[in-house]
Amino acid sequence: MSDPIDRSGLTPRFWERKRLDQMSKVEWEALCDGCGRCCLNKLEDEDTGEVALTRVACRLFDDATCRCAQYPIRHQFVPECIVMTPENIAKNAYWMPETCAYKRLWQGRPLPDWHPLLTGDPETVHASGVSMRHKTVSEFEVADEDWEDHIIDD
Ligand code: SF4
Ligand code: SF4
Repeated sequence: MSDPIDRSGLTPRFWERKRLDQMSKVEWEALCDGCGRCCLNKLEDEDTGEVALTRVACRLFDDATCRCAQYPIRHQFVPECIVMTPENIAKNAYWMPETCAYKRLWQGRPLPDWHPLLTGDPETVHASGVSMRHKTVSEFEVADEDWEDHIIDD
């Protein structure tokens, strides 16, 4: 299956040779494994600061493709959607999924062995069980007060 993220022509294992802030735009985008977890709504415990992921997805998330349905123009609909950059990872890491390549590299951890950059196959993130494809419900369907019934393991 063709990869919805352009990972062609990249230097082999560039993520082990460069810091995040040294990567080109294409390299940076290629780090995304396509899991869809950052498009899930989160619940934050006001006292402990702990963040729980729910399977209640952003209104623009397409559960069938596991991608944003309006990525280039998403901010017209979801202005709060964060554009991840090397500069803002430190501020956002606390809510990013443990599996996320950006968070892992920022923490000095390796990419997981199912990452499409290592396997050459965009399907391996889905086969690994990490992806949210076919697992979400839309925020249109679940009232805010019921999100806690949909908490998932990170
Ligand atoms: S959680 Fe990270 S790896 Fe997964 S889709 Fe979001 S940015 Fe990409
Ligand atoms: S706007 Fe798109 S990229 Fe942003 S959280 Fe929603 S589905 Fe994900």
